[in-house]
Amino acid sequence: MEAVDRAPALNGRTRLTAIFGDPVEHSQSPAMHNAAYAALSMERAYVPCHVVPENLRSAIHAIPALGVLGVNLTVPHKERAVRMMAAVSNEARALGAINCVINRPDGLYGDNTDARGLERDLRDVEAVVADQLAIVIGAGGAAAAVLLSCFRLGVRRIVICNRTVSRAKSLARRFGKYMNAQETAVSGRIIEVRGLDALLDPTLLSAAALILNATPMGLKTGGFAPLAYEATPEDCFFYDLVYAAEPTPFIKPAAALGRRTADGAGMLINQGELAFELFNQVAAPAGVMRRALMTQLGRLHR
Ligand code: NAP
Repeated sequence: MEAVDRAPALNGRTRLTAIFGDPVEHSQSPAMHNAAYAALSMERAYVPCHVVPENLRSAIHAIPALGVLGVNLTVPHKERAVRMMAAVSNEARALGAINCVINRPDGLYGDNTDARGLERDLRDVEAVVADQLAIVIGAGGAAAAVLLSCFRLGVRRIVICNRTVSRAKSLARRFGKYMNAQETAVSGRIIEVRGLDALLDPTLLSAAALILNATPMGLKTGGFAPLAYEATPEDCFFYDLVYAAEPTPFIKPAAALGRRTADGAGMLINQGELAFELFNQVAAPAGVMRRALMTQLGRLHR
């Protein structure tokens, strides 16, 4: 067994980091962070905590009391926890959600590494999107991170397709306000809203450079919504925020047509590396978190 796979030894000096979620058993973050601690021989540990919504406030209040260095938040806590922070980053405010709580001497600080994690992965997979159209499926917290990363990569027009159109409209409104308030906002950026039926519209699909799934479809439901894959350009990139051992139901038909695809494993690794740095004030060791996740997913030797 490699050193990175060994759990760090606990002792009187061990400092904790953690993830709060409900459920939390499925989380891959403990494997990734503990592998990084082991690789750096740090006296630190990362533990999963099953925190139900009614206990979120008391769990967050316990962070300074226990000297926990930092905590990741996952479903369903990311939005509600914003109000429990002493301060949050501009990015977290724009997204309306935090996935990191950093225990600072002057109070708890909330940040969100999802958009930066996705942006870095889209660069890594060389999805070329500047001045082009991206279709974003979903309108929840992850979709907000997708909008931010797409605009940072220079996407000119985004069409949000969601089951509940009113939710997509409110995301577009909120995000439009944020973009307009940014010094870097570029005029001419467009956000439109459609239902899931738009995924069968050949006119829309034929203009897309990037199509991203930011819903759990395919994870729990097995199949994906009807989508006219063959109407997309040959160089259209399909990105699924969901990740799994096997190609997901969203990207499998795209790959079968020869389109380039990626799942959300890279985004998860990147947001984890960024969180590691925020919690520990040192960079995550290169490649260690990726190896830990790919081992967990059984994809290391593919
Ligand atoms: P969320 O806030 O619960 O949003 C869920 C979205 O999915 C909503 O737009 C919802 O539509 C849609 N949806 C849910 N079930 C659906 C169904 N059966 N059919 C059609 N639409 C459905 O969740 P989230 O936090 O944004 O996360 C979305 C996905 O991204 C999750 O699978 C999560 O695991 C993944 N994610 C991955 C990473 C990563 O690092 N790879 C990071 C963050 C999130 P309605 O508005 O109509 O309900």
